[in-house]
Amino acid sequence: MVAKNHSMPEPSGWGGENTKPQAEAWGIRQSQTSNLHSIWPRLLSLIDRDVARTLDRALAGEDVTVEEATRLFDAEGLELNALVIVADELRRRSVGDVVTYILNRNINFTNVCIKHCGFCAFSRDHREEEGYFLPIEEVVRRAREAWDLGATEVCIQAGLPPKMDGYFYVDLTRAIKKELPDIHIHGFSPEEVLYGSVRARCSIEEYLRALKDAGVGSLPGTSAEILDDEVRNLISPGRITTAQWVEVITTAHRLGIPTTSTIMYGHVENSRHKAAHIALLRDLQRQTGGFTEFVPLSFIFEEAPMYKKGFVADVRTGATGAEVVKMYAVSRIMLNSWIPNLQVSWVKEGPKLAQVCLNVGCNDFMGTLINESISTAAGAAYGQRLKPREMRRLIRDIGRVPAERTTTYEIRRLFSRNEDDHHDPLDLVDEEGEEGFGSYHQLIHRQDYRFKDQFQLRVTPEPSRK
Ligand code: SF4
Repeated sequence: MVAKNHSMPEPSGWGGENTKPQAEAWGIRQSQTSNLHSIWPRLLSLIDRDVARTLDRALAGEDVTVEEATRLFDAEGLELNALVIVADELRRRSVGDVVTYILNRNINFTNVCIKHCGFCAFSRDHREEEGYFLPIEEVVRRAREAWDLGATEVCIQAGLPPKMDGYFYVDLTRAIKKELPDIHIHGFSPEEVLYGSVRARCSIEEYLRALKDAGVGSLPGTSAEILDDEVRNLISPGRITTAQWVEVITTAHRLGIPTTSTIMYGHVENSRHKAAHIALLRDLQRQTGGFTEFVPLSFIFEEAPMYKKGFVADVRTGATGAEVVKMYAVSRIMLNSWIPNLQVSWVKEGPKLAQVCLNVGCNDFMGTLINESISTAAGAAYGQRLKPREMRRLIRDIGRVPAERTTTYEIRRLFSRNEDDHHDPLDLVDEEGEEGFGSYHQLIHRQDYRFKDQFQLRVTPEPSRK
């Protein structure tokens, strides 16, 4: 039972309206000043005293601590409602009503991987029939197809194939850039950067320099999951460590390569792990300023080996709807002054819950994707692509303003709140054309891309999964 507080000091968080410089620079009329200030003192007096203090401090622009954020992750009832109100208010103050999205394509060029992360249903052993590897020409063709349809970014991530040429990622980047000099390559997770550097026998810094020189524009801040080695050793033994992840990210930032930041939650972690993870990202951002966005990713359990085969005890079946809402709300509260762009994943949460999340702190709706393999392999049921027009409709349906952005959050096109008379080439692709993009399930059954038929490998067998 939560003790209610009837003696809170005068609330401070509503003093002074922050401006929304970014949005105003785009010439957008922002929503009217929130009238919640009239009910805020009353609401504060009804909720748990500690939660009330934390939320009031957050509204005043102060950083909340790990302890405070842990308590917010445990909020229920009226405290949860107050948390959501504050998160949405902070979003409104810092980034306004614009909701961004990007026209992009995912290219997961191989699912063959030497690691056995317990949450990953995407990877295959190099001997398996379903292991595939796209030749460089096919990756370039897919990038060209996306560019011709208006995409500005390709997101390149994959498994770690055994005995990979250390400079393969560099060569792949060069090949794409040679064909499409202006496309943004958002590629290679910290795990892949580490693997590339080990295979190439060079330092992480040297490897990142090579990737940058070849044309990589930014890195996905994936392979983070929960940045706590105890949790990592449980769900993905042998994966990149927290210290290595931080080294890749901070080195990239120092070299002028921005990255995103992520968390994967809803498996074995607790509220404190989540709070500490976000606080670590906040500290890194304070030092480097290199994160472009934060992307919470909820665990898709259906096909995950650690759930399906029982490799890890007490794995949860993903986050509940309330946990998803709390993740976005607490993220907004912890990161608002540091990483203002908070992305919701429609692939993991579905378009309707994604709309809810836009009301609890989010301001970015992800991208068109065109192909999506990793969540689909794990059992996500929301498809592999969304047309830009559909994204604009979903954004307008909740009274917000859609805008297409670049990878680094420059606005390319801002759309009115009203009727959409704009068509992107991607909107005009019919069902037959979409079939041509190739689904994940087609890919794993195609003989011409089968990894084991392309590469005759003699590798030391990996330890079997237990
Ligand atoms: S998450 Fe990445 S590194 Fe881990 S098994 Fe899957 S593809 Fe391999």
